Amino acid sequence: MLQIRCPFCGTRDEVEFECGGAAHVVRPSPSATDVEWSNYLYVSPNTIGEHRERWYHGYGCGQWFNVIRNTVSHEIVVTYEMGGEPR
Ligand SMILES: [Zn+2]
Repeated sequence: MLQIRCPFCGTRDEVEFECGGAAHVVRPSPSATDVEWSNYLYVSPNTIGEHRERWYHGYGCGQWFNVIRNTVSHEIVVTYEMGGEPR
């Protein structure tokens, strides 16, 4: 079982969290093409190695935060607040 460090509560078991998909995905401008919108809505990265994700502490503080996780080893490299940078 993964141990995830919530930036607000500290380290907890993974069962307290939900993964919300890729982090730092930039929304296209309103004038974007159909292909750009389609890629934004339906294509998600399938990274091998370190991947930035959004996680939600649903059975804790109820806050969203970012995680950099290695998709091969499942090692959590770092967690940090939304809008912040990894430290
Ligand atoms: Zn928390």
